[in-house]
Amino acid sequence: MRKIKSNFKCRLCNSCDLIKINLSLPRAISPFLSRDKSWKNFYCPRCNSLSHFQKKKRNLVKYSDSSYRKSSNFEANRPASPISLPWSTITSLRSSHISKLIENCSLTEKFNCKKINLLDYGGYNGFTSYGLKSYFNIDDITIADLDPNGLKIASSLGMKVVNLHKSVLSKNIKNKVNLCISVHVFEHLKKPADALGEIHKCLKDDSILYIEVPNLFGSYLTDPAHLLSFSKEGLKHLISNNGFKIIKLGFIRTPKEAIKYGYPYSNWRECIYCIAKKENSLNSIRKKLRKGNIIKPKEIMYSKKKFLAKLAMSNFLFTLTYPYNLLNLILNLLKRFVIEIIRSIFSISSSLFFFFINLFKND
Ligand SMILES: [Zn+2]
Repeated sequence: MRKIKSNFKCRLCNSCDLIKINLSLPRAISPFLSRDKSWKNFYCPRCNSLSHFQKKKRNLVKYSDSSYRKSSNFEANRPASPISLPWSTITSLRSSHISKLIENCSLTEKFNCKKINLLDYGGYNGFTSYGLKSYFNIDDITIADLDPNGLKIASSLGMKVVNLHKSVLSKNIKNKVNLCISVHVFEHLKKPADALGEIHKCLKDDSILYIEVPNLFGSYLTDPAHLLSFSKEGLKHLISNNGFKIIKLGFIRTPKEAIKYGYPYSNWRECIYCIAKKENSLNSIRKKLRKGNIIKPKEIMYSKKKFLAKLAMSNFLFTLTYPYNLLNLILNLLKRFVIEIIRSIFSISSSLFFFFINLFKND
């Protein structure tokens, strides 16, 4: 395997032994893998993830002026709205699978017997956390984000807010949180370990962390807002090396309703989730790292050839997502159409019955 000792470091594990991957492919040929030439992309065989580096700083997505939400292609040509529509519906619906996954880890009993202080890291308008109130006994919610518009909405819903552009999270809520969620946020970060360190400071002992990110082998790599593409091993590496014990790690999809709203990529391997418990003190972990006693994931990492083969195969399967979801949508609409035709026929006969029975009825 040819590895390059580059000036770039893996965003997840800090390794310099990276393999350069060319993603500057024509969009028409490879719509889900291509990035323009201003991106440098490196595969890290140590944690099996991709780090993306933008050469031109001005091309990086800004969050602090709310332009990220405004520029979303998904919402192009829509009238102005105070919330990000229809994506906010999906944001809210995510609370359903998050609560089920936490319940499946037998943590609900623990949560129901006391009031929960919830932190939603990168929670935008707070809709996911608001949805979680239906499932857990939540006393207090803090939304931490960079988007001022999202934070205004969260604040109007009665949530506490922290603008990460202006203040340090752990100075606001140090050692106060017993459940933290971070949904589709860590792939946007330059230094995810630093963010996890901040979250660690905010959590009480034995608190629960839920993180969800897109899967490198089940999603598209083209989003310019994404600086990292995670594999399961990568997420495992990040969480277990930063003071958390992993309880469960698996795949999850965007709620299927997204297909009806014009997002056709929902599939069973689309995202990776991890539920973890705060365990070690961060200082002891850092000591281990300084001594070189790094906790390495058990999995065997891929060679360049094996990684490229896996990425090519998963990309091929991903391209089938769109037609598969469309076919399902068409079949469901057809089923609904047939049911409504049958219902209409019955409606005609019942209307006639209604008409005659009232016409000939003697008072
Ligand atoms: Zn790495």
